[in-house]
Amino acid sequence: MLRIGLTGGIGSGKSAVATHLASLGAIVIDSDVLAREVVAPGTEGLAAIRDAFGAEVLTPGGELDRAALAGRVFGDDAARRVLEGIIHPRVRHRAAELFDAAPADALVVNDVPLLAEVGLAPTFHLVIVVETPVETRIERLAERGMSEAEARGRIAAQLDDTARRRVADVVLDNSGGLDSLHAAVDVLWRDRLVPYERNVREGVRAQRPEELRMGDYDPAWPARFERIAGRIRHALGDVALAVEHTGSTSVPGLAAKDVIDIQIAVADLTAVDALRPAMAAAGFVVVPHITGDTPKPFAPDPVDWAKRLFGGTDPADITHVHVRVEGSPGWRYALMFRDWLRADDEARAGYQAIKKGLAATGATATEYAEAKEPWFTEIWPRLEDWARRTNWEPARAPR
Ligand code: ADP
Repeated sequence: MLRIGLTGGIGSGKSAVATHLASLGAIVIDSDVLAREVVAPGTEGLAAIRDAFGAEVLTPGGELDRAALAGRVFGDDAARRVLEGIIHPRVRHRAAELFDAAPADALVVNDVPLLAEVGLAPTFHLVIVVETPVETRIERLAERGMSEAEARGRIAAQLDDTARRRVADVVLDNSGGLDSLHAAVDVLWRDRLVPYERNVREGVRAQRPEELRMGDYDPAWPARFERIAGRIRHALGDVALAVEHTGSTSVPGLAAKDVIDIQIAVADLTAVDALRPAMAAAGFVVVPHITGDTPKPFAPDPVDWAKRLFGGTDPADITHVHVRVEGSPGWRYALMFRDWLRADDEARAGYQAIKKGLAATGATATEYAEAKEPWFTEIWPRLEDWARRTNWEPARAPR
């Protein structure tokens, strides 16, 4: 099963996207609908609202009087939080029940207007954000019968597109007609969502292409790391002492393969082994034959270099997750190497030259990784020297 979060500002076209995804075969859970269900007459949610706000927020017929309730919470943050404290957990609970009831091979889309605002992004395999310019949204909402003042008020109460973009694995531009929106959703469905779901269900990681593709530094890499890191923290909880962006994509300015490397610091590897099912459910599959890094001469015992490797399952977002024991040589090396490349222009230029030189030989990604190994060992004295001069210490996770 693939859990897809769908969000966007009011009037951006979330419902239009959800409807089209449903026509392609997705199961849609609409959180707006759930928010009405959990306070329907006779529910325990409606009783909680009556207890908190009094009988005056009910109609004589015993239904929620939305206008009266809106009047009570409008401009009163404390009251609004009380209301959200009643509604949000019940909606989440109901959504969880519907996810659990979906078939094992389903692609389930949860349309959540406030997904970014309430921090739900890490609970999904993928988040789609629909974006439409504000003026277009106001025009479209007007056609739906909403006044301009009300539309502007609602838009102002939500996050803006820039803030929402931070949680977006996919941005769908809905400034054009419905045909172009549908075409974009079709491609997304075929090329990403369907294979992603299959990978998660079958426990198959998405592989980088063997053909080595070295691209220029992409300023979007740090944000991509943050989104994946959120999912890993969500899956591992306290077992992850730190989740850090490492490898070439973590060094601004460096050309790299389009692969996000992530290092997770743990106290011991068995705790992570116990959480393999949670990682798999979150879309990270263990690579069983990799149990350590290549020892470097300064710490030749392979035991010290034990690690676990997980691969992401999103075919459009190749991710390698290296789990290492905090304080171990491999853990330290990954951080030191990154910080050195970030800090030292000459080191970065040297590494770039090695990478480009190897890439130019037409090596495959595997041959390339192997060919780089001696260089890592060779630069160790320079790296150590830099660390001594700068008093470098790995930043430890706050406890
Ligand atoms: P949301 O669910 O994000 O609030 P909707 O999907 O309901 O937004 O879209 C808002 C309004 O705009 C609806 O009336 C919808 O039919 C219309 N709409 C959505 N996308 C388009 C589009 N690409 N072109 C024209 N109208 C659109």
